[in-house]
Amino acid sequence: MVKENLAVVEENIAAACRRVGRSRSDVTLIAVSKTKPVELIREAMDYGIRSFGENKVQEIQTKTELIKEPLDWHMIGHLQRNKVKYIIDKVKLIHSVDSLRLAEQISSEAVKRNLICDILIEVNIAEEESKFGVSKNDTEALIRSIAPLPGIRVKGLMTVAPIAKNQENNRKHFKDLYRLYIDIRSKNIDNVYMKELSMGMTGDYEAAIEEGATMVRVGTGVFGARNYNIES
Ligand SMILES: *Cc1c(COP(=O)(O)O)cnc(C)c1O
Repeated sequence: MVKENLAVVEENIAAACRRVGRSRSDVTLIAVSKTKPVELIREAMDYGIRSFGENKVQEIQTKTELIKEPLDWHMIGHLQRNKVKYIIDKVKLIHSVDSLRLAEQISSEAVKRNLICDILIEVNIAEEESKFGVSKNDTEALIRSIAPLPGIRVKGLMTVAPIAKNQENNRKHFKDLYRLYIDIRSKNIDNVYMKELSMGMTGDYEAAIEEGATMVRVGTGVFGARNYNIES
């Protein structure tokens, strides 16, 4: 099933790119494999997928033990400071940095290992009570405080948009985040590279691409529905 799903997602991504005159190579598909077993990840690898998204430290540790091939693992979930050390050398990009304290922890663990860790700043673009992420108004100040840290490179912004029945409902949020991204990029802050805009999930990745996403995080659309009762 994974390969058939991927064919559909790929077609949708290509069509969204075409509609707005973007190149397919401008958009990275991150297959969100949280809760899913290694066998399904291998099916996606057979199809050619190399970028996988996970939201739990323990799961990244387990899966990187089981799959030795070089892959790009993306940490997309809330990250506790005391767990940074377990994944810092395993992930390509941490999408979910929303505080200076977390960034400081990432930087110090990176410096210990002689690494520079690429991160995105998570923005709570719809200002939802229940969500992680910095507010739109505080984003630039947070980035300016993080930018000088020696073990970190700020690569862009990420958001988890509201759950929407219709992806058109999230288009305004994607437009907002894109505007913020362009605005911050225009300030040319040292050590800040506004190159990646991580937005769009199964329900709304096409609208996100039309509005400028460079990374979409698709779980259900690739691997099917998640069952949180079954441990993978
Ligand atoms: C689970 C998750 C996704 C993927 O969600 P789907 O709706 O299954 O595509 C994307 N981003 C984050 C941060 C997630 O936690």
